[in-house]
Amino acid sequence: MTAARALHESFAPYVWARTAADVAASHGLSVAEVLRFDANVPPLPGVPSVPLGESFSALNEYPEGTYRELREAAAAYSGAEPDEIVIGAGADDLIGLVARTFLGPGRTAAVQLPTYPLYAIASGIEGAGVVDAPFEPDALGDVDVVWVCNPANPTGELVEPDAIAALARALPDAIVAVDEAYFEYGGRTVVPFVREVPNLIAIRSLSKAFGFAALRVGYAVVASGVAAELDRRRSPAPVSAPAARIAAAALRDPVLDVESEIAERERVRDALLAAGLDCPRSFANFVYVPVEDGLELAGRLEERGLVVRRYPYAIRITPRLPAENDRLLAALGVSPAASPARSALVVRTTAETSLRVSLSLDGRRRSRVHTGVGFLDHLLAQLAFHGGLDLEVIAGGDLDVDEHHTVEDVMAAVGVALREALGAREGLTRYGAATVPMDEARATAAVDLVRRPHAEIRLAFSGDRVGGLALTLLPHALERFAIEAGCTVHVEAAGEDDHHVAEAAFKALGRALAQACARDGTGLGSTKGAL
Ligand code: PMP
Repeated sequence: MTAARALHESFAPYVWARTAADVAASHGLSVAEVLRFDANVPPLPGVPSVPLGESFSALNEYPEGTYRELREAAAAYSGAEPDEIVIGAGADDLIGLVARTFLGPGRTAAVQLPTYPLYAIASGIEGAGVVDAPFEPDALGDVDVVWVCNPANPTGELVEPDAIAALARALPDAIVAVDEAYFEYGGRTVVPFVREVPNLIAIRSLSKAFGFAALRVGYAVVASGVAAELDRRRSPAPVSAPAARIAAAALRDPVLDVESEIAERERVRDALLAAGLDCPRSFANFVYVPVEDGLELAGRLEERGLVVRRYPYAIRITPRLPAENDRLLAALGVSPAASPARSALVVRTTAETSLRVSLSLDGRRRSRVHTGVGFLDHLLAQLAFHGGLDLEVIAGGDLDVDEHHTVEDVMAAVGVALREALGAREGLTRYGAATVPMDEARATAAVDLVRRPHAEIRLAFSGDRVGGLALTLLPHALERFAIEAGCTVHVEAAGEDDHHVAEAAFKALGRALAQACARDGTGLGSTKGAL
């Protein structure tokens, strides 16, 4: 057998962080108890603005291999021309393509440690040497590629783009590749320089601010001659057609959570600083916290299901939703200022179920629900969508017995999350009501957020089950929801198709809740004063 091309003895391949399931198993926790603050991705997924059915309608065909639509969208988004854009399967693929194009045995790449490990990996695979050197022309000597991570992973620090352009001008025989995976969080870019400084390459990603890491889409912005050199060496179709379509639509009309993520990053950082910890200013979606023994601290946090990225002398935290961050900060002994965002985290483990509910009242209708009961997942997704919520529910229950405990505990926990997210209930509309038809079925829901828990639930089903859900459980579960949420809930629904009856009921409840929870700003919710 032909031997694999040898790698340098110092070569270390990429190592993925352990999954939530692995972390849970090694500490005797349930997956629902594990919160990951280590992956530098937004807490909530991007929402495709191209209907998924349409994206997946021609899976027998190859993608359009020049990625014209995606290049045009990336060019318009970044302020370049389509012939200055090169498409790759994530920034990682483009890092590899730059290394393949400009590095090889006898050539050298420079990094400044600590940094994203893929630069050394991609350089090493091509047989190039890698040096750790400060980014100054004299110190860099005659390197072939300088890998600059800006904003920097893991510290979050930012170098002004004109300083990087000056470095590229001072090293005309080298390539200066600038990884701008976190560009949207700092807003500064070398893109305006690439035409005039052709040895400068900007690499971007849809994995971070856009929330599409699973799609694997990235692009590079370079002078058109360099784009042609890179394109000659790229694989024919690195990005799948559905991913390319979704990414192009997102770049044309970006809907990002950057503002709220930055607000949360700053709230977390302020709390860490106030507690006497060090924490450099960050221009990315994470904060870097130098500590005496990062491995020990991260190990201790992980035992409680709180996963941070660990370094010998630091930890790195990617904030999630406010209530989730509060849990991590509490474990660090840090008390943050209250977040103005209305969110809640409920983590519960009983003999029968273990679950996590994460709820944001002012959401973008995104849900990720895995309860093991498919029809309940569907109903909660409808509640989130029509309630304008972001909702994550992960539950593992004793479904081997039946779905009784899971359904009731999940709905109760969603109620608790609503109560916590509502906080003091000041300035809210208070009442909400909605009628939702679904073909032959019709549901009406009315909600009063005053703290008088009461439920009137009348769901007229004709059968016993829809999928894995016994319908008799629903009225009681909705009652638990109302009692735990501390509000009055009326829901009535009837029709011929039980699926429609239940779905219309959850949609109507979502719509009524959205109205009641809206902030009308008057604070006049009750003649008796506060709710
Ligand atoms: N660059 C940096 C600096 C990163 O931190 C990451 C994510 N780990 C990537 C690139 C990877 O980006 P992509 O998902 O687009 O391959």
